[in-house]
Amino acid sequence: MDCNHIIITKKMVKIDYFGLTFSAKMEVCEACKAYLWNTDSKEKLNLWLSEQKKTNRDRFVVQASLSNTAKECLDEVSKDYPGIQTSALIRAMTFIFLHFMEKPETAEMFEMVTGSEIYESFAKQEKHIVKIQFSSSGMMDLHSWSKILQIKIPKIVEEAVYRITSFHVESDPKLKAFWETQISPQISLVLKSVA
Ligand SMILES: [Zn+2]
Repeated sequence: MDCNHIIITKKMVKIDYFGLTFSAKMEVCEACKAYLWNTDSKEKLNLWLSEQKKTNRDRFVVQASLSNTAKECLDEVSKDYPGIQTSALIRAMTFIFLHFMEKPETAEMFEMVTGSEIYESFAKQEKHIVKIQFSSSGMMDLHSWSKILQIKIPKIVEEAVYRITSFHVESDPKLKAFWETQISPQISLVLKSVA
């Protein structure tokens, strides 16, 4: 399936990013239709993104629907990080979730936690909409992950919160240890880096 992109033509392309259309003249492979990004088109994309961030702010807001208990769990977790807003915590959780999903050994832990009682309870409850603002690069990350995992962006955020808060309350020694040695320190790290 590997294509060497031998025959290339320059054409106007339109790419959809979370409901917004980016258009630019780009090199496209005739055989596999891949867009061949270069410094110039990447720069254009970044410029376009920062423009969109100003004019279409709502597109950078993810509306996740979280269950009551998940919200309570979030409040509980946030006690470990004084002065941190819930939205910042949710953002951190989202990126930690994706970071761990990249590696098979940690992705496995995130699959295991879905068997917990608390995780299962989340699905059965009434939901509340929570709005979380993302940066343009954060939104781009979510967009590509959404394509890879074939999960809608809000669902990624919801899963991140559900699974990570499940780890927090988990009593299974293996999962508890994973929270203490990996997730909790990562959350601190991410929160510090954006503060
Ligand atoms: Zn190609």
